[in-house]
Amino acid sequence: MHSLFEIQHLSYAYHTMQGETAALSDITFTVNTGDFIAIVGPSGCGKSTLLNLLAGMLTPESGTLLLNGIPLTADSRCHIGYMLQQDYLLEWRSIWKNVLLGLEIRHEVTEESCSYAKQLLKQYGLEKFSHSKPSQLSGGMRQRAALVRTLVLKPDLLLLDEPFSALDYQTRLSVSNDIGSIIQKEKKTAILVTHDLSEAVSMADRVIVLSSRPARVKSILQIQFAETALTPFERRNMPEFKEYFNLLWKELNEHG
Ligand code: ADP
Ligand code: MG
Repeated sequence: MHSLFEIQHLSYAYHTMQGETAALSDITFTVNTGDFIAIVGPSGCGKSTLLNLLAGMLTPESGTLLLNGIPLTADSRCHIGYMLQQDYLLEWRSIWKNVLLGLEIRHEVTEESCSYAKQLLKQYGLEKFSHSKPSQLSGGMRQRAALVRTLVLKPDLLLLDEPFSALDYQTRLSVSNDIGSIIQKEKKTAILVTHDLSEAVSMADRVIVLSSRPARVKSILQIQFAETALTPFERRNMPEFKEYFNLLWKELNEHG
């Protein structure tokens, strides 16, 4: 049995007219099916670069990426869903048409995929807004619509790059709770980049702490609550929550 995703000795540098910027140094970790991994690290350390490499949008300088045991190629991209801070919903399309966009690009608009899209919209409280334009939705609803657009493609792996950071605090709490619960319920494998430690502890079962640039893996913290199957919101009220938060805080603020 191999893991879903093997990241081995991954390094990356940007080359520009001004010179070289080393972004990642010797990153190694494993993603198993059903994992929810959070990646935290100082701003500018290379987190988005790492996700872009995992999504196959950048090519590693050195190191190996194995998805289902096979080196990552452009083809494997269709098994990966990517969600960013901005929702990138197209303003001139209805929510329904936005949700179908990926399926259209892949020529996969079928009766079956449409009915799955409808089911997801209903499940996540967006059914009534199918015919609305994105501008008519709140920030939280837009982010949920972006998630439905990603889920409808049935990705094996979800990559989330600070997907809640454009939202205000209240909305952020509720949307991260919704999205965390959705991912749990759909039994998806996910990697979430966040600078919010409480978000990491409330959602993930493993947190990878990166050093400042060039990012290396400083430590990996296993998150385990005595009670299982808690929602992110419920986790925030458990005694372990504060312990993990403090551990991560210490880890991030330690030099070296
Ligand atoms: P993070 O997501 O952790 O904030 P990034 O991965 O976006 O960090 O960036 C890591 C470093 O690489 C930063 O110093 C940034 O300035 C640099 N960088 C990012 N993208 C580019 C690029 N296209 N060209 C040159 N340097 C870049
Ligand atoms: Mg970033």
